[in-house]
Amino acid sequence: MARMPKLRINPIACNGHGMCAELLPELIDLDDWGYPIIKTSEIPLNLLDMAKRAERICPTLAVMILEN
Ligand code: SF4
Repeated sequence: MARMPKLRINPIACNGHGMCAELLPELIDLDDWGYPIIKTSEIPLNLLDMAKRAERICPTLAVMILEN
């Protein structure tokens, strides 16, 4: 069985603009300071395109998708 891609955020690189959570509210919450909290790291296939978009638009390259 194929493993689901995983979402990771590098907390050191992140500067808390919150764009990833706007794109992926199903997987990412923001804390009181605007930093992302991953709700679930497994990315369902129907959200994979949006997760890849979040990875591309993150200004600090903090969003990562691990495909296996
Ligand atoms: S888009 Fe990138 S820098 Fe902005 S909150 Fe998300 S992970 Fe952090």
